[in-house]
Formats: sequence, structure tokens, C-alpha cells
Amino acid sequence: MSSGSPCASKKCYCGIPSKMLTSWTTDNPGRKFLTCKFSDVHTGRKGCGWFYWVDPDVVEWQRVVTNELVVEKRLLKTELRVMMTELQKLEDDKALLVAANERLERICNGGVAGMKGTKDKGQEIAHSVFWFVVGLVVCCVLKFVMKFL
Ligand SMILES: [Zn+2]
Repeated sequence: MSSGSPCASKKCYCGIPSKMLTSWTTDNPGRKFLTCKFSDVHTGRKGCGWFYWVDPDVVEWQRVVTNELVVEKRLLKTELRVMMTELQKLEDDKALLVAANERLERICNGGVAGMKGTKDKGQEIAHSVFWFVVGLVVCCVLKFVMKFL
């Protein structure tokens, strides 16, 4: 049953305007009725107990079709909830993969930069060794030449 607004045309035993609700029982699915303003379907409180059907009795085919639609709606709601949960898991997995991808990119970029640095340092050392050898050779040649002078 769904909650409704006060209906001024009919008053319950309390002498106040009744409220209109919609029944969602399997016997009367979708059928509107008036009841005491103090009744509450959630707590089971009946108020003064006054009750009046607004809609005529539900025809059998309407009852069957409406009940099937109500069941289908519940199934679809459940399916939607499951799909939303799966979607959330996929979103979480995506976030983890994006973070892992960023870490790998940082490592790769850092690695290339590190290798580049190593290469530069290696070249620097090779240059130093080369000039040391050149200097050594020049010294030896000069020493050799000095012997003959
Ligand atoms: Zn009442």
C-alpha cells in the first residue's frame, strides 16, 4: 500500500477526512481505497478501522497481469541492484588498474631516465679515460723525445 493524501469527501469514524491509499496485496493489486488518517501500513496501526474501496473490484485478468508486473518489477529491481554492485566492482577494478598503470609508467619513465643518466655518466668516464690515455701517451712521447735532445 502506498501513502495517500487526505480525502475531504469521505470522513472516517473519527469525523475527520480520510486518506486515499493504493493496495498492493495480491488480491487487490493497484486498487485504491480510503481509510482512517491515523492508520499506518508500516506500523500496522488501523486507526478507527474505517475502510472504503474507491476502485471497483479487480477483474481476474487485471489481478493476474498486475501481480505478474509487480513480480517482474521486483525482479528487475533486484537485477538492477546486482548490476549496480557489479558496475561498482568494475569501477573499483578500473581505478586499481589506472593506479597500477601510472606506477608502471613512472617506473618506465624513471628507468629510461636512469639509463640515460647512466649512459651520460659512462660517456663522461670514457672521455676521461680517453684524455688520460692521450695525456699519458703525450707524456711518454715527450719523455722519449727528451732522451734524444
Ligand atoms: Zn479514523
